[in-house]
Amino acid sequence: MNMSRPQRKTSPPTGRTAYRTLEGWALGVLIEQHAVTECDHHGHRRDRSDADAWTRAREEAWRNPFPGSTPEACIAALEDVMQSIGDTCPDC
Ligand SMILES: [Zn+2]
Repeated sequence: MNMSRPQRKTSPPTGRTAYRTLEGWALGVLIEQHAVTECDHHGHRRDRSDADAWTRAREEAWRNPFPGSTPEACIAALEDVMQSIGDTCPDC
């Protein structure tokens, strides 16, 4: 057993844009996995109702949770953000 290497609790940034809030991070994951898209004309977020993308976003949140948050809190944040997003652009 190697006792000389203390376990690090924090991991270094992994290249993803540094989000300041869990909600911002959650939205970023949803856009990254194409569960949410932005209207080309107005920039409003739309829920794409894509079950596969939603599953990918949750898996990604589980594997790479927002720094300082538990995977459970990250999944909950994804669901909160998703509920706040409609499936149509209000200005289209
Ligand atoms: Zn629009």
